[in-house]
Amino acid sequence: MLTEKKIFEILSDIPDPEIPVINIIELGILRNVKIENDTYIITITPTYTGCPAMKVIEDDIKLKLKKTGIEKVKIELVYSPAWTTDWITEEAKEKLRKYGIAPPLHSTIDKGILIGKPKVLKCPQCNSQNTEMISQFGSTACKALYKCLDCKEPFDYFKCL
Ligand SMILES: [Zn+2]
Repeated sequence: MLTEKKIFEILSDIPDPEIPVINIIELGILRNVKIENDTYIITITPTYTGCPAMKVIEDDIKLKLKKTGIEKVKIELVYSPAWTTDWITEEAKEKLRKYGIAPPLHSTIDKGILIGKPKVLKCPQCNSQNTEMISQFGSTACKALYKCLDCKEPFDYFKCL
């Protein structure tokens, strides 16, 4: 039997299907690994409801563990507490930026809950704050399309949840 820690290590190889530079642990999707008798119980929290990526992630987990010789896998979905973009690690946010996607701001800022903190999105290319939204929807429903008014480059913003 492999330890829970080892399983985490193995699963850290699985990227987000839509954003290959960050893995499911950095994204905060993988919640827990538990071994009961001879079954590995993997708990994940779906990101956006109905996001087609979740099915891909489930299959990836099963396949990855199968390759390690682990057949008995049960995947449990936990919806509470609901996933939020605040769970994405700072490291992963930096990776997103380098990948050309503006990482999510803290959800309280995005939702306008924190009064007096204007939502300022920095261009991931040139760091300019002179940006504007072009569309609510970018390359996927989870992202919005922005444009930098300085370097003129369009970029995706990973919307907060
Ligand atoms: Zn720019």
